Amino acid sequence: MLAHGLIPVATICLLTGLVAGCRTNLPNDSDPERESVALRGAPLDADEAAWLLARARASLERGAQFFGDAGADPLVGQRLEIWIVRDPMIWQELRASAGRQHLGPAFFLVTTEPQGERRLRIVLGETPSGALPVDPGALAHELGHALLAARRPQHGPAWLEEGFAEWLRVQSQPERHSQLLARAAANGPWQPDSLMERTLLRADDPTAYARAFALFVELQQACGDRWPQLVLQLQPGPAAQQRSAIEAHER
Ligand SMILES: [Zn+2]
Repeated sequence: MLAHGLIPVATICLLTGLVAGCRTNLPNDSDPERESVALRGAPLDADEAAWLLARARASLERGAQFFGDAGADPLVGQRLEIWIVRDPMIWQELRASAGRQHLGPAFFLVTTEPQGERRLRIVLGETPSGALPVDPGALAHELGHALLAARRPQHGPAWLEEGFAEWLRVQSQPERHSQLLARAAANGPWQPDSLMERTLLRADDPTAYARAFALFVELQQACGDRWPQLVLQLQPGPAAQQRSAIEAHER
């Protein structure tokens, strides 16, 4: 899920107030104001926090590799907060601040702090089982949005955002690759043009996500080494316009 928008200053203050005093226990007592990736929200024990941060850093590194930046700062100098939310009130507040309907249990948003600093935020709800604080697949997906937002001034096309997010998820859940392709093809042949022009993929439309992934990997094959550059440059717009940009990058 993806939501781009600015949280009004008043909302940020409310959020800060709601979570005051319940800062996550990080293994090294990391300071969310200094670390490039910080946990916020509901407290986690040290093992859970270390597990979550290790998963996040592995996915971010994989994403950096995709863009040819292995070993560099995956977020190119920007800061990311991963919010673990167990309180329904905080959950509703964050959902409202994202300003979009059809958000799933996990979502990503970009905010502007009162000082004008851009902040990347991932919000993760508690899993139904409660066995682990978050769904690792959902975490990887949202990290995909964070990687794109850190590198692209523009937002969209929606299929590209969700296709890349699912691609990053598949890197840590390889079994999902064939599942997504099967779902994309389950209703027979489909034309990508209408998908390319959609401005939002609904969280309750898994076929659209599967098709976004299928289109992403198909074009990755067609464009080869030039695909990461196109991912950074492709603009939302009519399918014909996107297609001509893609054709210029095909090998
Ligand atoms: Zn998404």
